[in-house]
Amino acid sequence: MIGRVIKLEKDYCPVCLYTLDAASGFDNNRPEPGDITVCLNCAFILVFKKNMKVRKATNKDLSELDKETREKLSKTLFVVNRYIIANSN
Ligand SMILES: [Zn+2]
Repeated sequence: MIGRVIKLEKDYCPVCLYTLDAASGFDNNRPEPGDITVCLNCAFILVFKKNMKVRKATNKDLSELDKETREKLSKTLFVVNRYIIANSN
């Protein structure tokens, strides 16, 4: 389940510069360094760095995801894309 919204230190999507200051984790988990996230504006897959700022995910990051995370990511991307479509004109 996607949990409640967790406030994060302000950061920007490295792809579209959208302000990122919150995240919804699965099972109410607070994101940790190395966790995957998705930009709500451009749907780019991002990774939390040690300082909890985000960077673009690389092919290596994605190839190292376990099956469960991969499935969660694919569901998340579906939801984020629906959100983007619903909010575009
Ligand atoms: Zn973005």
